[in-house]
Amino acid sequence: MCLVSKNLFLKNKVTTASVIKKVEVKTVAITAQKVAMTFASGGQSYQALKGINLEVQRGDLQLLMGPSGSGKTTLLTILAGLLTPSAGKVFLLGEEISAMSRADLAQFRLENIGFIFQSFNLFPALTAAENIQLSLKLKGIKKRIAREKTHWLLEEVGLADKAKLLPKQLSGGQQQRVAIARALAGNPQLIMADEPTAALDSQNGHSVIELLRRLTKEGGCTVLTVTHDPRIVDIADRVFYLEDGMLKN
Ligand code: ADP
Ligand code: MG
Repeated sequence: MCLVSKNLFLKNKVTTASVIKKVEVKTVAITAQKVAMTFASGGQSYQALKGINLEVQRGDLQLLMGPSGSGKTTLLTILAGLLTPSAGKVFLLGEEISAMSRADLAQFRLENIGFIFQSFNLFPALTAAENIQLSLKLKGIKKRIAREKTHWLLEEVGLADKAKLLPKQLSGGQQQRVAIARALAGNPQLIMADEPTAALDSQNGHSVIELLRRLTKEGGCTVLTVTHDPRIVDIADRVFYLEDGMLKN
């Protein structure tokens, strides 16, 4: 596991020997083998991904870049198990998610993946705090602990004073930060993000980038993010370039 916990922000601490062992033994977090995606619409088919092979190492901050329409969101959602590819295999943390039942995949995602959507996808009837608490509740975290954790996550993204506001009362950038806090709430080992700084001003963008850096470098999480932000390129371990549904490296 990685340490998306208060420890991450206070001190760099790995809690159990088994965690260290697992990280040492398994170094690949994400594997794609010949992943292809064909969309059919209006009687026509469009090949959005044309046989993607890739590996993301554990603990890396890995970027996915490329022009608009090149297939970045399609690939990211497939790697997160949110979209089923037309062909190919996906392995996360050594398990083949493309072979899992829907129920097993849902459980695997809940336990291991924090996904930050480009369009935020917050629940409109829930406050900022409730959006975060809901994901903790789904994981069976006790109410008191969930409240505490929600508070410091909101603090971490600079929104402690907005806890009781609904998404529609927040700016796009603030909603994006709530979405980031929510994605981190369940201590996911894998964090996947679709342009997490796109809606943010320079200062908030900087603090989210710093958070991504700490999650990987100090917390041991694996982050795969789509971005156009040159500031993230500066701190990334590796970059995949996608063009016309193919990786160019
Ligand atoms: P990017 O995120 O790089 O901008 P996308 O992955 O969103 O690109 O899209 C890649 C291509 O696949 C685009 O041409 C887009 O129109 C097409 N596409 C994406 N999703 C669908 C869909 N659900 N149905 C049909 N075509 C789609
Ligand atoms: Mg996209």
